[in-house]
Amino acid sequence: MAERLDPLISPPPDLRQEALQPILRNSFGLEGSLIALPGERDQNFRVDTADGRHYLLKVSNPADSRSVVEMQTTALGHVERVDASLPVMRNLPTTGGEPWIEVTGPDGRIYPVRLLTFLPGRVTAATALTVEAIRSFGQITARLGRALRGFFHPAADYEILWDVKHALKLRPLLTHVFDPARRAQLERALDRFEARAAPVLPGLRAQVIHGDMTLDNVLFNDADRICGIVDFGDMAHAPLACDLAVAIASVLSGRADAIDAARTMIGGYVSVTPLEDEEADLLADLVMARLVAEVAITAWRVGRYPGHAAYSVSGEPAARAFLDSIEATGTDVVRRGFREACRGLPYRRAAAESLLQRRARALPRSPLFYEHPVHLVRGEGSWLFDPDDRRYLDCYNNVPVVGHSHPRVVRAVAEQQRLLATNSRYLHEAIVELAERLKATLPPCLDAVLVVNSGSEANDLAWRIACAATELAGAVVTAFAYHGLTHATHALSPEEWAKGERPAHVATVPAPDGYRGAYRREEIGWAERYAAHVDDAVQALGGLGLAAVYMDPAFTADGIFIPAPGYLREVARRARAHGGLLVADEVQAGHGRSGTALWSFQDSGIEPDMVVFGKPMGNGFPVAALAVRSQLLGAVPEETELFSTFGGNPVACAAALAVLDVIEDEGLVHNAAGVGSYLREGLAKLAECHAVIGDVRGEGLLLGVELVDDRVTRAPATIQAGRVAEALRQRGILLGTTGPARNVLKIRPPLVFQHEQADLLLRNLEEVLAASRR
Ligand code: PMP
Repeated sequence: MAERLDPLISPPPDLRQEALQPILRNSFGLEGSLIALPGERDQNFRVDTADGRHYLLKVSNPADSRSVVEMQTTALGHVERVDASLPVMRNLPTTGGEPWIEVTGPDGRIYPVRLLTFLPGRVTAATALTVEAIRSFGQITARLGRALRGFFHPAADYEILWDVKHALKLRPLLTHVFDPARRAQLERALDRFEARAAPVLPGLRAQVIHGDMTLDNVLFNDADRICGIVDFGDMAHAPLACDLAVAIASVLSGRADAIDAARTMIGGYVSVTPLEDEEADLLADLVMARLVAEVAITAWRVGRYPGHAAYSVSGEPAARAFLDSIEATGTDVVRRGFREACRGLPYRRAAAESLLQRRARALPRSPLFYEHPVHLVRGEGSWLFDPDDRRYLDCYNNVPVVGHSHPRVVRAVAEQQRLLATNSRYLHEAIVELAERLKATLPPCLDAVLVVNSGSEANDLAWRIACAATELAGAVVTAFAYHGLTHATHALSPEEWAKGERPAHVATVPAPDGYRGAYRREEIGWAERYAAHVDDAVQALGGLGLAAVYMDPAFTADGIFIPAPGYLREVARRARAHGGLLVADEVQAGHGRSGTALWSFQDSGIEPDMVVFGKPMGNGFPVAALAVRSQLLGAVPEETELFSTFGGNPVACAAALAVLDVIEDEGLVHNAAGVGSYLREGLAKLAECHAVIGDVRGEGLLLGVELVDDRVTRAPATIQAGRVAEALRQRGILLGTTGPARNVLKIRPPLVFQHEQADLLLRNLEEVLAASRR
């Protein structure tokens, strides 16, 4: 880069009007009065002619070499040619046809002097900007960037401290910031810039940019429309995103809603020029760097040019306030918000109250969690965010098994959707690969796969196959099981039976509850004794006989139980002895949640006749599957097609494959084991001080905390469990309750859950339990 005197170090020009009048007359052929306009390092005058015309006379800082002045002049011509509707000044040549003249000042320095068209309009205060004006500010910044896209000039490697890409050069200036807390804040922002932005910036798309899209340089007319862009003095070759960062930092400083307003401006910008992912992810850091420049350069200049102090400090308090509000909101929260806004997908922001009412009217039977339902607009990892960017720690959802909005799953879905989304009656690799991948994780006897859309559908299909294969008609499920929503699976879901409802073809067995049930963990053979209930249940089915026993191996709806491995083995043995099949429903417990294997039944060493996969399978994209022994399929008549339109479509399969990849590549089974046991130990410690915790159980990242009113009688503390969940929700932590008495706190977070997040949950649970004792 060419070594140049930084114009900030060079005093601004101070030519007298009397000296400029003859220049105006002799070189530009104009007579008129000169009215001084503000300028940071140039001298600007409005020229008013007697016949009412206006021009701008610009005396550049001598630090701006000839080639810099030439660059500015040719850039204006370039912009005019590319987008004539952009309101930029036109350069007016001298009477001799030169683009400018050079004048020697009384100080002996050489000053370039130019005449330009004058743009009428006024500057506006940040606080006066309407939403529309902010949006159009973003748009015009993007339009100017587009107009400059093909522009080149050798002087574009111009170096100026305001240039965001040089933010690290601000460090020495921080010695002029005397408030230690402020200086520390600026250092934090620069450290962040150094770590996050500096390594990536050289790879971002770059071009010549305006670089100073501030409120001083953008003029508005009386209808609040932008009618002028002036001052190309900071133009340089720089990452394109810096132009938007400067606009956000300098235009919105001073507004109490600066962060929200930034999203509006970003929305305007990306409606013209979409930002690339890396640009979007860095935007907040670039904004902060520009705010640091404002504060640091001001501190430095105040001492250096006291005469100019009034001008140079004007934006500084507002910049400080903007930095404060970014830090108060959380720098990463702001970063994500900006990144989200870059997607140009403004999420819906109906007022929560009216949304609730509209929902109740339009979807009267759709249940909602919580007394004050949580309104969510996005998620990331183990975090969920409401429209105000308040974050919630997700300790509940197993669907986003690899973390909310995991980029690999998102990319796989988007890319496949772009290529092909059709039904599975055509040849396509994805469904075959998915079936093969699932089979490879299962006992070899489970050699056939059917891909469907939901856990209910898979369980429903399993029921049809079981009835056809066994030619029997009865089912056994646990006493508070849930297996689905369809007619057939509702019958298999006592959790959802209405009062008095009991389908005649379904019998129940008690879940293997070793805490409060008939047999306790302390007793030898307790699990097998529970399994023996299968015989009683089959007896109750009478002549229907047993087609299938359905089991969620972690008994999630029943209250979360992990019985000894002998339990499932014994259930399988007895079911088969009655001629029935065993269906392992892995919809809740599968996909690595147990921390021991991909499928929770594997611990017990059984080989189920069918295995059902659902919820987490697509990390939120609807996809489910059934693995089955192929000889059972033979019982379904040939002429009956086992096909579902969306089942196994390429997009769903792409999601399911990406989920399997991420679980493997990120070691999530291992993480579930490690963080799960850490959390379980923490919960057990809480139980030592809080008598309301009767039992802590589960494995991996599926944990239950059973609350009781009395540890001796084990009376379920149903009301208190509900209150704890509500209180945690108020504190930004989401979990659920389960079990027939709804007194078991259900902890089932995404498998990317971290130790610190476990700590956050434990700390809050502890405080909530302590407060409820008072
Ligand atoms: N089986 C189990 C164990 C479940 O938890 C659920 C859903 N909660 C289902 C089946 C039904 O799955 P879906 O809601 O996708 O139909």
